This record gives sequence, C-alpha cells and structure tokens, in this order.
Amino acid sequence: MVHAIRIHEHGGPEVLRWEEVEVGEPGPGQVRLRQTAVGLNYIDTYHRSGVYKLPSFPAVIGMEGAGVIEAVGPGVTTLKVGERVAYAANPMGAYAEARLMPEDRLVPLPEWIDDRQAAGMMLQGMTAQFLLRSCYVVQPGDTILVQAAAGGVGLLLCQWAKHLGATVIGTVSTDEKAELAKAHGCDHPIVYTRENFVARVKDITNGQGVPVVYDGVGRTTFMDGLDCLRPRGLMVLFGAASGPVPPLDLQVLAAKGSLYVTRPTLFVYTAKHEDLMASAADLFGAVRAGGVEILVRQTYPLREAAEAHRALESRQTTGSTVLLP
Ligand code: NDP
Repeated sequence: MVHAIRIHEHGGPEVLRWEEVEVGEPGPGQVRLRQTAVGLNYIDTYHRSGVYKLPSFPAVIGMEGAGVIEAVGPGVTTLKVGERVAYAANPMGAYAEARLMPEDRLVPLPEWIDDRQAAGMMLQGMTAQFLLRSCYVVQPGDTILVQAAAGGVGLLLCQWAKHLGATVIGTVSTDEKAELAKAHGCDHPIVYTRENFVARVKDITNGQGVPVVYDGVGRTTFMDGLDCLRPRGLMVLFGAASGPVPPLDLQVLAAKGSLYVTRPTLFVYTAKHEDLMASAADLFGAVRAGGVEILVRQTYPLREAAEAHRALESRQTTGSTVLLP
C-alpha cells in the first residue's frame, strides 16, 4: 500500500483526501514508478472541481510526475529498474507516492535535470513547446501577447519566446508579478487589474496589434484579447483559469479582422510517442541552452495538496509548484 491524494466527489480543495491505495504489479507494457516529485497544474483543479467531469470515483488526480522505476511489467523493453523518468500524460493519477504508468508515456531524464525541476517542467514546458513551436510558429521579430505571464506556463512562454527572438508583451495581476515576468523575458508587462491591456498592446505595437495571443486565462480576457490581434491573427485559447469562455458568435471573427481561433491541448500534440519524445527533447534543449530557466517557486508536501490548490486558485503562486510525496 502507498499513500495518495484521492477524491470521492467533485468540489473545493477540501475534497482532496490523503488515503492508502493499492498500486499492484505492473501489467504488460507498464512500469511501477516510485515518485519523488509531482507537478501541480491548473488542470488538476478542473479535475477536482468538476470543470472536467471524471467518469468514476474514488480517483487519484494529477497529470505530471518524476521518479525512479522500481518494477517493469512483461514486454517492457526500453526502460529498466532504477532508471529516472518523468511524464506529463494520461492516465491521471500522479498525486501518489508510487503508481503504474505505460512505458510509452515516460521520458528518460538526463542526469543534469533533477526530479523537482522535472516535475515542475514537463507539463508546462511541453505546453510552452507546442504553443510556441507548433500551434503558431514564433519568428524572430514577432511581438506576441502572453496572458498570465508570471504563471507556470506564462513564465516559460515569456522566456522561450524571448530566446526565439520575439518581443513579449505579458499581462499580470500585481506589480510583483510584473517584476518577475520582466526578469524572465517579458519586455512589456501590463498589470491588467488596473491597466487596459488592449490599449497598451495597441500602443506598444504602434496600432498594428500582435500576430498571436496566448490565453490560458479564458473568460475574463478572451474577448479583449481578440482586439489585440492584427488582421488574420491567431487567438490560442489554451486554458480557463478565470472560467470557461462562453459560446462565440463566429461572425465576430470576420468583424475583428478575419481572425483565427484554436483551442489546443498538450495531450493531442504529444499523443504519438515520437511527438512526445521530440517535444521533451526540444524542451530539454532549450533549458540546456540557457534559454529557459525552470522556476520551481513553491513546494508543498503531497499530503498538503489542498493548500497548494488554494494558493494556485487564489493567484498566489508564480512559476511552477511541486508536491513532494
Ligand atoms: P498558472 O500558474 O498560470 O496559474 C493561473 C494564473 O491565471 C494565475 O496565477 C493568475 O495570474 C491567472 N488568473 C487570471 N484570472 C484568474 C482567476 N480568476 N483565478 C485564478 N487565476 C487567474 O497555471 P498553469 O501554468 O498551471 O496553467 C495556466 C493555464 O494553462 C491554465 O488555464 C491551464 O489550464 C492551461 N494549460 C493548458 C494546457 C493545454 O494543453 N491546453 C496545458 C497546461 C496548462 P495573474 O494573477 O497574473 O492574473
């Protein structure tokens, strides 16, 4: 038996319970992983609260972790006992001291990435990777807008986009977050709780607007974000930290300049094994090259996951947060 954080119903952070669970032996194509660090992500709050409904209870939530393989099942050929790996993938179930994982969803870790960094970088980092390199391909000289620029994904987007030669405009809720974003690639932080970010973006781009908006905030920023785009620009809505965006009248996209909108997910962009490995390799390369620093700015014992959820949802965290089993 091991300990895990389970939920028996959707609800607030109080539904997260520290309980004993059975892990069992790995089946064909599976390994058992002893986890040393677990990543906290906004999606965990959607799974907990029911923004994303879970099919059955009790359920162990969590999508990201790092650790050491302690057993391999029949047919596992690419990984061995004692190897360090990390993941950002289905199946859910990361909030545990140990768990089973399919072999083909695990990424071997280079020795220069420690487990906490790995748990703080895989999900948010590969998200930044596909957003900047695939969804819209950021070019040197682009000026882009990143919403919630001091968050987990936000700080990675700012740093990496800067490393790619872009100018980054980013929104944040406080002056402290503005300082942090500025120190990590955000050329023009805008405190959107007191400044009109549409007017500021127009100002900074001499009235042109930006070719792409990366928006993980959702309800409160989406419509104004459309007004920051130049004609034929792309709105990348990748999350809903402030709540889901209501249904959109597509005529709006014509009226605002023949705009494009996409609502991508990491799990589709890394569904094929070769895409997962390529994304992780690109991320590790950007970190190794010094273009992206992994900022694990909060850690909590895994058993105190409820506290971590409260901090994330009340906008108190910056960068990445790691839970320690
Ligand atoms: P963050 O660390 O970015 O935390 C969310 C941030 O959103 C807050 O810090 C806050 O920044 C901002 N925010 C604005 N309004 C609110 C509000 N009402 N309540 C809470 N936060 C608010 O989280 P993550 O880096 O984990 O995730 C960022 C986004 O990316 C999420 O929407 C997440 O779902 C999405 N995501 C999507 C993926 C995909 O595949 N599509 C993969 C990974 C993440 P501030 O105080 O500055 O406003």
